[in-house]
Amino acid sequence: MADAEAASSSSDHQEIQEVEDKTDEFAEPESKRRKVLKRTDGNPEKLEQRLGGILCCAVCLDLPKAAVYQCTNGHLMCAGCFTHVLADARLRDEIATCPNCRIEISKTSASRNLAVEKAVSELPSECQFCGKEFPRNTLERHEESLCEERITNCKYSRIGCPWRGPFHEESSHEATCTHPHRSGAEVMDALQDIDQKREEEKRLYDSIFDLLSCEKISFQDLQMKPYRTDEFVHKLFYETSRFSALNNQWVVKARINNSQRDPTQSSERDMTYQLILKTKTACPLTTHFLILRGPFGDMKVSPKIHKFEFTDQENESPYVQLPLPDTAECNRLLAAKAINFRLIMFVMSK
Ligand SMILES: [Zn+2]
Ligand SMILES: [Zn+2]
Ligand SMILES: [Zn+2]
Ligand SMILES: [Zn+2]
Repeated sequence: MADAEAASSSSDHQEIQEVEDKTDEFAEPESKRRKVLKRTDGNPEKLEQRLGGILCCAVCLDLPKAAVYQCTNGHLMCAGCFTHVLADARLRDEIATCPNCRIEISKTSASRNLAVEKAVSELPSECQFCGKEFPRNTLERHEESLCEERITNCKYSRIGCPWRGPFHEESSHEATCTHPHRSGAEVMDALQDIDQKREEEKRLYDSIFDLLSCEKISFQDLQMKPYRTDEFVHKLFYETSRFSALNNQWVVKARINNSQRDPTQSSERDMTYQLILKTKTACPLTTHFLILRGPFGDMKVSPKIHKFEFTDQENESPYVQLPLPDTAECNRLLAAKAINFRLIMFVMSK
């Protein structure tokens, strides 16, 4: 609550007046309502932006996408930052404290704040295709199945039509598409591509099931934060804090466009990451690892397994691709203050 008080006392009198006006909006005559709206126009910050500032996570300052936790003084933290704070304290062998007021926090002393979770889900968020604003809890459905501008494939894509475009142009394209008139021989290539993709998917799932029988498995819900290198030209990179898994300590690092000199010059953007062993190991650790979305993030990553043999001399895996669908998803991750994900590790014992 301290946050809310601080925010409203710092705003000027007119803004407070406006919030009060809005609460009994229903009883107001039309003319007065218009006056209230006009005053909002003259104001650079709208009510939902001010609410966003109040309901955001006190650590990463983003609006929480999943559960919201609070310390006994009411400071809010998103689920990703909350587990991050607890994990950091465990590693340093310290008591976890609220990053705002330093009061002790733990899984039992902190509570969820359902009102904040629901309020955040009602705040508007922009559709990535049409740019219109919708409440967060309806945005996914809008983007997936309602938006007229969402990108769709031609229904004959399975037999090789490469057309992709906004949904509202789909039916006119399909009416004139030439692919349904092609012969069986002509569509064989497209069918072979589909078979090959299926085969690759099956191989991936088979190897995941193989790894699940492995002796040592660990999964961690981690958070990467952005940093700048201290070279002459600062470069952006991401890093998790140290975490323990399978009797060792590790770190995950990530970078954009493989640390290209100036990624802002390129419109194509991707992310690569590496796993680093931070402790000494007596024998080589043959490790398989993969990154998944996890329970606290919303990264649209596809599963891809990587393998590396960690030794004392070679304790850093090479940078490997984080399989994101496109540049837009990479930019969305860059825009967030932190990236939450789950890392699964499998270690083979010899
Ligand atoms: Zn956070
Ligand atoms: Zn606190
Ligand atoms: Zn839309
Ligand atoms: Zn087509």
